[in-house]
Amino acid sequence: MAKQLELIPISEWGLFTEDPKPYVIAGPCSAETEEQVMETAKGLRAFGINVFRAGIWKPRTHPGNFEGIGTEGLKWLQKVKKETGLKVCTEVASAKHIFDCLKYGIDMVWVGARTSANPFLMQEIADALSGTDIPVLVKNPVNPDLDLWIGALERLNNAGIKKLGVIHRGFSTAEKKEYRNDPGWQIAIELRTRYPELPFFADPSHMGGSRKFLQEISQKSMDLGLEGLMVESHCNPDCALSDSKQQLVPADLQVLLESLRIREKSGDSEDYKKQIDHLRAQIDIIDENLLYMLNSRMQISRKIGQFKKENNVAILQATRWDSLLAKAVESGAKYGLPEKLVVSVMNAIHDASVEAQNEILSKEDN
Ligand code: PEP
Ligand code: MN
Repeated sequence: MAKQLELIPISEWGLFTEDPKPYVIAGPCSAETEEQVMETAKGLRAFGINVFRAGIWKPRTHPGNFEGIGTEGLKWLQKVKKETGLKVCTEVASAKHIFDCLKYGIDMVWVGARTSANPFLMQEIADALSGTDIPVLVKNPVNPDLDLWIGALERLNNAGIKKLGVIHRGFSTAEKKEYRNDPGWQIAIELRTRYPELPFFADPSHMGGSRKFLQEISQKSMDLGLEGLMVESHCNPDCALSDSKQQLVPADLQVLLESLRIREKSGDSEDYKKQIDHLRAQIDIIDENLLYMLNSRMQISRKIGQFKKENNVAILQATRWDSLLAKAVESGAKYGLPEKLVVSVMNAIHDASVEAQNEILSKEDN
């Protein structure tokens, strides 16, 4: 059982209004000029965005690309705050960044994907934040390692940071896929299951890497019941100095947000509760049956192991397994089951059978 985190609910952070849902953080990938920052912020404020993002220090793959305006940009964020009333946040990757943010009254910080993958930096950041109560969002590490992500959260929480949340922005992959970063939703779902109270944002901009994917990823995030979105928005995306392909003008972000279907976390009506209880009861019975059937299968498998032992036959019969799996995939398809599901279930069953038969063999050898 993972250590629980001590959290202050996001509704008490003083940043987001309850309505409208989802919580949205929007703003340019990078703060480039005072004019660009102000124009974008005003465009976002005009339709009710409450929290503005802008990267000040940018982690870039190649040296020589725009690496952020640096501390000077914090003054522009201060101006955004003063003139529009928006709360402001930026990415931090070192103790120095934190001290600068605190000095300039930044309302929230986030830790980027390259930084959350590094426990040394995470500890440095946690130590620098100790004694403050600034909210912190932690992006997933670039590699799909849930424990590394949790470790980063634990370091911050141990340093007393309780206004804590996460941003899922997908994972780097060696092979190039449609999205810039692989969603690996199962990892996000596992984190959500372990820490249901942890405020959860998705970052469709860095996950998709292109404007054309923003709507579908945002909708998927809502369907999964995530609380919020961090979306990159720029007053003139085509001229952006970083991530130009994935940024939206504020008006287009408004259209996207208005298109989202927001699901309730749970249904309150009596009828809903009755129906869901009924369906869950059916699932429970089916699960019980599945376990009973699995046990029956394992018993036969052990008998086969015994029989193989007596006849001095090897446990693993690859051709038999190949044909069994092919048959299962074919039958599964008839029922409309996804091949991935059939293959992973059958493989898990097969692994357990081989293990059980191995045990029989080793027992008799002793
Ligand atoms: C960003 O938010 O601009 C950024 C650099 O994101 P990530 O850490 O997800 O790459
Ligand atoms: Mn970016």
